[in-house]
Amino acid sequence: MRNTILFFLLLVISSCEEASTPTQKEAVVQKTSLVEQEKKDSIPSHKFANDFIMGKFNPETDDRFEEVPQTFASRRGLYMHVDALKAFLEMAEAAKAEGVNFKVVSAARNFFRQKQIWEAKWNGNKLVGGKNLAKSISDPVKRASKILEFSSMPGTSRHHWGTDIDLNALENSYFEKGKGLKEYEWLVNNAKAFGFCQTYTALGKERPHGYQEEKWHWSYKPISFHITQAAKAQITNDSISGFKGSETAKEIDVVNKYILGINPSCSH
Ligand SMILES: [Zn+2]
Repeated sequence: MRNTILFFLLLVISSCEEASTPTQKEAVVQKTSLVEQEKKDSIPSHKFANDFIMGKFNPETDDRFEEVPQTFASRRGLYMHVDALKAFLEMAEAAKAEGVNFKVVSAARNFFRQKQIWEAKWNGNKLVGGKNLAKSISDPVKRASKILEFSSMPGTSRHHWGTDIDLNALENSYFEKGKGLKEYEWLVNNAKAFGFCQTYTALGKERPHGYQEEKWHWSYKPISFHITQAAKAQITNDSISGFKGSETAKEIDVVNKYILGINPSCSH
């Protein structure tokens, strides 16, 4: 509202200056249509280039990103989108005042970091469920689907955006009793007020496709909603490439089942 008032104040001043040519009325019409155009351009989903959506940049040197302060991070070098970080810090302070402590254990990861994670699992250098997948699953679609239970294909992770964070522990069992349960219940009751939602709720009727449940993964919806919309409009299964096993994206339908396979309350 304050911006609108300021704008009209500027409009009056600049209209006075240009009172002769064009006429005041024409100037107003001209400026109004400029405002309409600006409004259109400022729809956030129009702002996200494919390289941003797919994590092909460095959060450490990008102006839109900032490091999570040590008080609320498990280690140094965790970056978030500045607006999401601001909201998270407000939420973490509010929780702290009620005796509940949150630390970010994972935040922005770019395409290249996700490629290392994915390929380590694909090649068998990192075991998945105690198994070397390169030996135990030869079929590429089945192997990719197994990794996709908990890890994203590079280019399709919401962690690229800096809006999504993992809190406190990477195990559902941690959040099902004692301290972890108290933390999870706090989030379920309060996160929404700070703009956060649990992206990967239990699979079922409400969320038929996608990753398994992740009680630790929360998304700052005021931004991630718009990036999800941009991904829906701009990313195809053919855009997913540049790592081992990427050819399976089309058959699996990674865009619809994984990028868009999120908690409906994070996407409406
Ligand atoms: Zn996560």
